[in-house]
Amino acid sequence: MEEYKYYVGGEFRESKEKIEVINPATEEVFAKIFQASREDLDFAIEKAKIAKKEWKKVSFKERAKVLREIAKAILDNLQILAELETKEIGKPLKESLFVDVPLGADCFDYYASFLESLQEEVIQSELGIDLVKYEPYGVCGVYLPYNVPLMIFGFSCAGALAAGNSLIIKPSEYGSLSILELVKHLDKLDIPKGLINIITGHGETVGKYLAGSDTDIISFTGSRQTLKKIVAQSADNPKKIICELGGCNLTIIFSDADKERALQNILGSSFMKQGQMCIGTSLVLVEEGIYRGFVKELIEKTSKIKLGDPFNPTVGMGPLPSKEHLEDIHRRVEKLRAEGAKILCGGKPPEGRGYFYPSTIIEVRDVIYEEFFAPVILIKSFNKQEIEKIIGQNPTGLVTQIWTKDLDKANDLAKKANCGTVWINTFAQMTSQTPFGGIGESGWGRNLGKSGFFEYIQHKHIGIGFRRSPVEDWFGV
Ligand code: NAD
Repeated sequence: MEEYKYYVGGEFRESKEKIEVINPATEEVFAKIFQASREDLDFAIEKAKIAKKEWKKVSFKERAKVLREIAKAILDNLQILAELETKEIGKPLKESLFVDVPLGADCFDYYASFLESLQEEVIQSELGIDLVKYEPYGVCGVYLPYNVPLMIFGFSCAGALAAGNSLIIKPSEYGSLSILELVKHLDKLDIPKGLINIITGHGETVGKYLAGSDTDIISFTGSRQTLKKIVAQSADNPKKIICELGGCNLTIIFSDADKERALQNILGSSFMKQGQMCIGTSLVLVEEGIYRGFVKELIEKTSKIKLGDPFNPTVGMGPLPSKEHLEDIHRRVEKLRAEGAKILCGGKPPEGRGYFYPSTIIEVRDVIYEEFFAPVILIKSFNKQEIEKIIGQNPTGLVTQIWTKDLDKANDLAKKANCGTVWINTFAQMTSQTPFGGIGESGWGRNLGKSGFFEYIQHKHIGIGFRRSPVEDWFGV
């Protein structure tokens, strides 16, 4: 059984305490990772502090070369990395192979191109010349969620590295293997030892230590509950936190929408990765005139999604990552049922091995802004008068989809939507160039695009005077 060591200061290390990695489709232990200690973290920070000084001096063009090599290392090892994500997390292989892992690589390629043409600012005025330098924060603590580890490695670490920071990465205990496999290849690159560190183990131990440690900035992707803990844990050592959380994403279907396309996009946005996508649909709102017919078709299509072995190419959904996650989801579904919500399909885990949960649609009477992060969506009808209020009051806006042929109406609603991204007649239209992040309870700060570089930069102004300064002779003494 393979054991995956963590990586600190350019050394692969192990500890006495091992954590079993379970294949959620079979419930078999197939690998082990190690619980890193506070001493390991201290060592990583010491080395990351040395590495940050070296890395900061490296020119943008030279940094670009390293980022390209990271992208190449991901793509050269695509098959094994994708298989590990599928085996550990349970999402179908075609998602890991064709979407998640390649997207991670693309982020490094994008920031390489960005750096190749980047110049710091020079402002000339009558007073003199002002240089605006792009300086890194220093050591960046990065938390990865379990669902798309290498994709979020790209989303957060490509911009942070491009900006000149060194990294201490804490992957989820449910999604550590792909990054631990990748780092075996990154170790061979000509980069300062200690520039990229990976510490594994439980959030409540090593994740907690990282929050309170002497890093200069934190990039967190995960749940709001954990963010609250990290904010508290870092209170004695405050620092900037960029955070990408989840949220209740609304998908709004007007009666004039292209229904077949809307249906297909609801299926994709609700049930890919077993519903574990931060941009996925949580609540579908269908205009009252078409509600019944639309729901009927949605149930028919949803019921055809095949649940099973995520390595089988005909399977649409694999298992959830853990027994705890499965039980928590089922408990929440049962609670809604007990409160009077109607389960239209799914809602009961199948018998047998594996942490499987079927695609589930629940009809609710009132708007509930809830993210399941599982193949469970809520559905409700709406009328034109109330939709603005429903959109505007969403406290957790990450993404909203609007489906209508009336672009004026869609654009008007998009402006009022309380969220970071609005997709009109489309879904997942995002690239490494487009800024991504939430507002309100779904996070702050942006990854990707130019914004995802400047989040990890501190601007430094150097003014070189050609004339007397504005205060010279102010007092005339
Ligand atoms: P999580 O909050 O449980 O874990 C995130 C990270 O925090 C992990 O590395 C974990 O080990 C660590 N952690 C857990 N407890 C900790 C503690 N007490 N102290 C310090 N660190 C701790 O999130 P998850 O279950 O891995 O991911 C699911 C959530 O992430 C969902 O809410 C989803 O919407 C969100 N998400 C958001 C995005 C985005 O880009 N906005 C992307 C993916 C996932």
